[in-house]
Amino acid sequence: MQDYGFGMFLRILEYVAGCAGTTLIKIDRFYPSSQLCSVCGKKNPETKDLSVREWCCPKCGTQHDRDRNSAINILNEGTRMFLSA
Ligand SMILES: [Zn+2]
Repeated sequence: MQDYGFGMFLRILEYVAGCAGTTLIKIDRFYPSSQLCSVCGKKNPETKDLSVREWCCPKCGTQHDRDRNSAINILNEGTRMFLSA
């Protein structure tokens, strides 16, 4: 990705997704995927700090790994966008 830049990476991804018969969904760049609890939806601005790798939701008490929680939120948002299109 470093060699091509992000724009070229996206074009390659779109091409490969088209060949594979899948749809590429792009979520809003400002969607707060790392701040939202993937279980209850509570927004936790304290996780804006990139050094926070694990956190506990202040509303539902779920313990989150930052990247896994973010990936779940991105999947859910992409699915929501796909189904509402
Ligand atoms: Zn929660």
